[in-house]
Amino acid sequence: MDLTEPNSGSDVGDITTKAFPTDEPGVYNIVGTKCFITGGDQDITENIIHLTLARIEGSVPGTKGISLFVVPKYWPTEAGEKGEFNDVNCGGVEHKMGLRGSATSIINFGEDNKCRGYLLGNAPVDGKGAGMAQMFQMMNEERTVTGLAANAAATVSYNNAAMYAAGRIQGRPITNPKSVRVSIIQHEDVRRMLMYQKSITEASRAMISMSYYCMDIAENTSDEEERKRAKVFVEVNIPIVKAWCSDMAFLSISEAMQCYGGYGFSEDYPIAQQLRDCRIYPIWEGTNYIQSLDLIGRKWMMGGGQVFASWFAELEKFVADNKDDKVLSAQVALLAEALNQYKEIQAAMVGYLGQGKFGMIGFFATRILQATGHIYGAKLLLEHALIAQKKIDEIGKEHFEYPYYAGKIASAKFFAHNILPQVGANLRAIKEGDNSVMEIPEASYLLD
Ligand SMILES: Cc1cc2nc3c(=O)[nH]c(=O)nc-3n(C[C@H](O)[C@H](O)[C@H](O)COP(=O)(O)OP(=O)(O)OC[C@H]3O[C@@H](n4cnc5c(N)ncnc54)[C@H](O)[C@@H]3O)c2cc1C
Repeated sequence: MDLTEPNSGSDVGDITTKAFPTDEPGVYNIVGTKCFITGGDQDITENIIHLTLARIEGSVPGTKGISLFVVPKYWPTEAGEKGEFNDVNCGGVEHKMGLRGSATSIINFGEDNKCRGYLLGNAPVDGKGAGMAQMFQMMNEERTVTGLAANAAATVSYNNAAMYAAGRIQGRPITNPKSVRVSIIQHEDVRRMLMYQKSITEASRAMISMSYYCMDIAENTSDEEERKRAKVFVEVNIPIVKAWCSDMAFLSISEAMQCYGGYGFSEDYPIAQQLRDCRIYPIWEGTNYIQSLDLIGRKWMMGGGQVFASWFAELEKFVADNKDDKVLSAQVALLAEALNQYKEIQAAMVGYLGQGKFGMIGFFATRILQATGHIYGAKLLLEHALIAQKKIDEIGKEHFEYPYYAGKIASAKFFAHNILPQVGANLRAIKEGDNSVMEIPEASYLLD
């Protein structure tokens, strides 16, 4: 997928790659440079097909004027063979902090004016192309997969950290300094770090699974109501899965590294690589700020606000149904409080918009997305915990599966008591709306 250019990353509407009609219908000459292209050039496959965004000469500026082209490195013959070189040149390989198994390339199209591409779909009408809409069909999947990859890295890091902590002998319990030396998994702070990772990876996994489940339902059910409900979940979940899961995965892997102490910072263990590799996920497929704008600017407003309202109503229903649960009522109450705080966040943002303070969207969007992930993660973990409690009631504490189910309940409790309260802190900052970051001159950032 070739979107990004040296001067046009987040703002894809400003791309300068151009397409010029040829004598052959549907075939255009392509000229331009793309950068950071994953798998942009490599010698694993015989040919490389670039799906490239470019603006056909005379199209309108901005995203509306963009079209999508199929640009092969080698122009295939009628017989489907590799064919002639299509003037698609690798200008260089990006030297990256991580993800080094993936060739990320600078791609020059048409250095010798001999690069051709097929227009995908119809020619622009009134200078408006279908490129962005076509690209977004892939983008939703890419964004979900980004959350999934981040979660995979965080999960394997957590599993490694837990095993390491169980084996590493260091120090004595703070509650019993005269004891023999113990493994670090027995220390409170190490348990805090492990439970942070466990609850984040489980919440992320649940969000991702729910998203794929809803995609399947939205595609396959014949029940129209169920299809609508599933589509709502897919729409709202995509920016959360992309941004919350990737931001939290990095924090989680950082805690995994901390569990290893100095050994985590060395290359002897896998954590250093996982931390490096995972750092790309908040950046690509639209930075996490772009995701938060998608949440607030599009998903909050979609269908006159009804789409988000029905997503949120499911969380409120969960609270109403489970507020008297014998084991988890205290944590369900924390979720109820966070949902009220979330509504206050929305009201505060509506207030700012009413006063014309649009900058507040930019300033708080990322934190609102994080708060959205926190309330959703808490709901899903509490759902798990309710199921786990039922199982424990059935099997008892001596059963070999008891630690697994007890762990699920502990994840939900930890999340509700230690991560969810961030929603209240965000509300406070949003209500106070301190704008000093914008009021000071730019030079204040540049002078020490
Ligand atoms: C390893 C790797 C693989 C990649 N693979 C691909 C690929 O296959 N295909 C492809 O097309 N691209 C690819 N990319 C590019 C990636 O999608 C972009 O790097 C990303 O979209 C950000 O663009 P940028 O780097 O130009 O940063 P910028 O857009 O310059 O952003 C820099 C910072 O400024 C913020 N920012 C930018 N504009 C605004 C604004 N208007 N308001 C507030 N904040 C703003 C951003 O959120 C970010 O924090 C890849 C990148 C990497 C590193």
